[in-house]
Amino acid sequence: MKATIDRKGCISCGLCASTCPVVFRMADDGRVEACTDPVPESAEDTAAEARDNCPVSVITVE
Ligand code: SF4
Repeated sequence: MKATIDRKGCISCGLCASTCPVVFRMADDGRVEACTDPVPESAEDTAAEARDNCPVSVITVE
């Protein structure tokens, strides 16, 4: 499983980084980046939750 983010569309709300900090972190430019590849099995559920709750739907987890 891999997490990708269309970073141009990220509005920096921070929700994904607080929901699943193992996978998502705020980068220096204020937008989120994925910090693991692949997503650890133990974080798959929370990564999917972060994807589902992103207000601008820029996260893909597959
Ligand atoms: S939930 Fe979406 S908009 Fe919010 S920080 Fe994460 S990627 Fe960006």
